[in-house]
Amino acid sequence: MNKQSAMNAYIKEIGGWVAGQLEACTRCGLCASACHFYQVTDDPEYAPVWKVSLLGQAYQQRFTFLGRLRQALGLGRPITDEALEKWSKLVFEGCTVCNKCAMVCPMGIQLGPLIHDVRAGLTAAGLVPADLHAATVKQDAIGSPLGVTDDAWQERIDWIAEEWEVDIPKDKKGVDTLVVFSSIEIMKFPENLVAVAKIMAKASESWTVSSKGREVVNFAFFEGDRELTKKFLNRVFGAARELGVKRIMISECGHAYDAFRWTAGNIMEVPKGIEVTHVVRVVYDFWKAGRIRLKKGAYDDGTITFHDSCKIQRRGGHIKEPRELLAWLAPRAFKEMSPAREQSLCCGGGGGVISIKEADALRLAVFGMKVEQMNKIGAQAVCMVCSNCRLQFTEGVAHYKSGIQVRGLTDMVFKAME
Ligand code: SF4
Ligand code: SF4
Repeated sequence: MNKQSAMNAYIKEIGGWVAGQLEACTRCGLCASACHFYQVTDDPEYAPVWKVSLLGQAYQQRFTFLGRLRQALGLGRPITDEALEKWSKLVFEGCTVCNKCAMVCPMGIQLGPLIHDVRAGLTAAGLVPADLHAATVKQDAIGSPLGVTDDAWQERIDWIAEEWEVDIPKDKKGVDTLVVFSSIEIMKFPENLVAVAKIMAKASESWTVSSKGREVVNFAFFEGDRELTKKFLNRVFGAARELGVKRIMISECGHAYDAFRWTAGNIMEVPKGIEVTHVVRVVYDFWKAGRIRLKKGAYDDGTITFHDSCKIQRRGGHIKEPRELLAWLAPRAFKEMSPAREQSLCCGGGGGVISIKEADALRLAVFGMKVEQMNKIGAQAVCMVCSNCRLQFTEGVAHYKSGIQVRGLTDMVFKAME
């Protein structure tokens, strides 16, 4: 049953693009060296090329002459339910869909999107890790993967506004910008909301949050469940349409930026005339336009580095904005890790991995590589523009007792405002 559902899903997914990618692979194995999960385990099953080979097997069996012949003669290697369960662990717990492997593939194969397709087939077969699926179910039923109900969301926003004495407009029509936060930010990093509210006020930007489109995270996207991904995206797009905004600003959340900025346009009708942008871009533009002024050297008191998030920097290309901001805020203290920018090493918590309890040991082992990178340059602090990465860093530095301070860049910008 599992086997058939997964295979059916793969056969549906395999179009010209997927077939071309699979055919192009020369089995050189170079992608393995780029994968942090392979590097810490030294297990060939964690090599990106192996992770996508499930899709490759479906393709061979169904779409190649030799494959069909082998099947007809009973010579094809059947895929067992047991093997699928093992694959589920590999692609959900041992892959953050960071797409770093694609950077080294000499054939230009986009392994990340292919692994996303492998996840989709396993999801169709009901083989999603329980914790990840529970979060998706909660997001569907309640509106938040962390289980934040409508009332709890309203109360939390009101509490943040009161506690920090900031104005957080709710459901305000006719403003320019709809800001969508993640439940992680609302519950664990409320200072992100405060920072955005203060920056928007200083820049005289008209904005609002929405009670209907209140969750930027999309757990169905992690699963590869296309229909549910669209449903979650539509909650925000629908709210943006109703409010009549000109743009949606994604807060410090990487995969949400990918989902709204690129995936949405490929899987559904997106509202015309509404720009999707990321907070790092907006803050940078305000600064460049003189709408906010920042104190030069505000963080020049100890080596600080920047972590490039896979979906915002490698995928999204927002590489210069945080660097220019940091060159201003910490001209002497800012130091790059190596590798960085589009070659940056993933933190190990993306792709929904951080929500899977069973993946904890592997996730933290992978983070050890990031600790080494930071230690090499003597970093005393690290900042980033993704709250999922920030959660992973917060847990990771505590696990390794490294003492490195973990910060969100938007919050740093707010605190450096003149
Ligand atoms: S997408 Fe990232 S985590 Fe997944 S196989 Fe490639 S390098 Fe490894
Ligand atoms: S690097 Fe590219 S061509 Fe080589 S094994 Fe990996 S996916 Fe195939």
